[in-house]
Amino acid sequence: MFRTLYGKLAAVLLGLFLLFGVFHVASTVVTTRLYLQEVDQHVNRTLAASLAKDEILMTNGRINQKALERVFHQLMVINPAIEVYLLDPSGRILAFSAPPGTVKRERVALEPIRAFLAQDRRLPILGDDPRGSDRQKVFSVAELPASGTPRSAGAGAPQGFLYVILGSEKYESAAAPLRGSYVLRQSARAGIAVVILTSIAGLVLFRALTGRLRSLTARVQRFTSDGAPESEPPPASAPAPSSSPGSDEIDRLDGAFRLMADRIGAQMRELKETDALRRELVANVSHDLRTPLAALRGYLETLLLKEDTLSPEQRRAYLETAVRHSESLGKLVSELFELATLNSRAAAPGLEPFSLPELVSDVTQKFRLAADQKRVALTATPPTALPFALGNIAMIERVLENLIDNALRYTPAGGEVTVTVARSDGALSVTVSDTGAGIAAEDLPRIFDRFYRASSRELDPEGGAGLGLAIAQRILELHDGRIEVESEPGAGSRFRFWLSSAASAPVALAPA
Ligand code: ADP
Repeated sequence: MFRTLYGKLAAVLLGLFLLFGVFHVASTVVTTRLYLQEVDQHVNRTLAASLAKDEILMTNGRINQKALERVFHQLMVINPAIEVYLLDPSGRILAFSAPPGTVKRERVALEPIRAFLAQDRRLPILGDDPRGSDRQKVFSVAELPASGTPRSAGAGAPQGFLYVILGSEKYESAAAPLRGSYVLRQSARAGIAVVILTSIAGLVLFRALTGRLRSLTARVQRFTSDGAPESEPPPASAPAPSSSPGSDEIDRLDGAFRLMADRIGAQMRELKETDALRRELVANVSHDLRTPLAALRGYLETLLLKEDTLSPEQRRAYLETAVRHSESLGKLVSELFELATLNSRAAAPGLEPFSLPELVSDVTQKFRLAADQKRVALTATPPTALPFALGNIAMIERVLENLIDNALRYTPAGGEVTVTVARSDGALSVTVSDTGAGIAAEDLPRIFDRFYRASSRELDPEGGAGLGLAIAQRILELHDGRIEVESEPGAGSRFRFWLSSAASAPVALAPA
C-alpha cells in the first residue's frame, strides 16, 4: 500500500489526523481541568473566610477544639468532598477533617497561600494537598487573626490559617472531567466524527487527484514498453492544453509528456523513413553499379574467349561498348561521391561574386557541338546588365551542365533549348527550357529524388543514373537558393533556379 503515492498520502493524512485528534483530546482534557479548577476556586474563593468568620478557631496559638469540630461538622453537611486543615503560621498542619491516617504531609507550602491571599495571581492557584506527598490542588484559605476574628490579609501576623482543599477527590485522573461531563462527552464524540469524516473526504479527494497521476503513469509505462505511439488521441476527459489557465501541474506534466511522445514518435517515423531511403539507396547503388560492371565484364570475357574468331570490326565494336560501360560506371561512381560530399556539407564553400550571364554563355558554348550533332537549337539570351551573383562558380557550373545536358538529352532532333538569365526580386534566376518530351505530372514531384528516373528517360535509355537533378538541388540548397520545374508532356520542360545577387556593380556581357 505504501508503495503508491495514494498510499503514502493516505498514511500521512491519517497520521496527521490521529496526531491532531490526540493533541485535541489532550488539550481539551488539560484545558477543561484547568477551567474547572479555576471555576471551583473562583466560586469557593471566600469559603475558608466564611467558615472561619463565625467561629474563633484559635486563641493565643491554641486550637479551639469545640469550634473546630463544629466547623468540620458543618462542612460534612455542606460538601463532604471538601477537606479542611488548620495550619500554624509556618504552614504546619495542626488539625484536619480528613479520616485519620490519610494525611501524608506534615506541612504545606506557604507561597501559594500568600499568593491566594494577596490576590495578585490569576486563578487557579494550586497548593499542596496534604493527602498526597507530591499532589497539588485548588484551595481556599483564610487567616486566623491573633484577636480571634477573621480580618483582611496584611493587617498583622496571623496565628494560623484555615486551609480548605476543594473538590478533593474529584479530579484524580486527567480524563475524569471528560468522563463526568455530558457536554464534554458529546463534544469529544463530535470531534471524533469530524476527524473520521474529514479523513474519508481527504481519502476520496486524494484518490481523485492521484487518479490522474495513475493514468499518466500508465500511459508512460505503455509508452516505454510499446514504444512511441503512432498517434495517440487525447482521451475525452483530457485536460486542456498545458498553457490553459485552469491547468495545474499534473495537466502540464501530461501536456509535456504528450508533446514529448509526439516528438519521439515523429522522430522515430523520420528515422524509419531515412532508414528505408538508405536501404533503397544501397539497393539502387548496387544495382546501378552491377549492371554496367556485368556488361563490361561480359564484353571483355567475350573478347578473350573469341579472340581468334572475331573480325577486327567486331573486336572494335566490343571494345567501344566496354569503354562506354566503363565510362558510365565512372560517371556513376563520381556522381555518387559528389552527392555524398555535398550532403556532408552544411553550406557551399568559397562563395564569390561572379557574372552569371558569362557563366551561362561559357557552359552553353561547351554544349554547342553536342547540340549541333543532335540537331537541337541551343541558344542563350543576349547579355543584359545584371548584378553579380554570389556563389561557388564550379558548383553553379555543375548545375547548369546538368540542366542543359538533360534538356539536350530529352529533346528530339529539331527541338530547341533556351537558357535565359534574369533579375527577380533582388535575386538572379536562370531558366533552361526545352521543347522536348516533357515530364509526366506524376513524375514531377519526384524527379529531384536520388535515383529517380522518369518515363521521359525512354528517349535516352543509356542516360544517367537519376542523380543529376538531386546534385543540382543539393548545390542550390547549400547556396540558400532553390530550383523549380514546370513541364507539359509532349511540349517541353522548364527548369528555373534562383541565386542571391552579390549586389555589386552591373556588368555588361559579351554575346553568347
Ligand atoms: P538522369 O541522369 O537520369 O538524367 P536526372 O536526375 O538528371 O537523372 O533526371 C531525373 C529524371 O528526370 C530523368 O531520368 C528524366 O526522366 C527526367 N528529366 C530531367 N530533365 C528532363 C528534361 N529536360 N526533359 C524531360 N525529362 C527530364
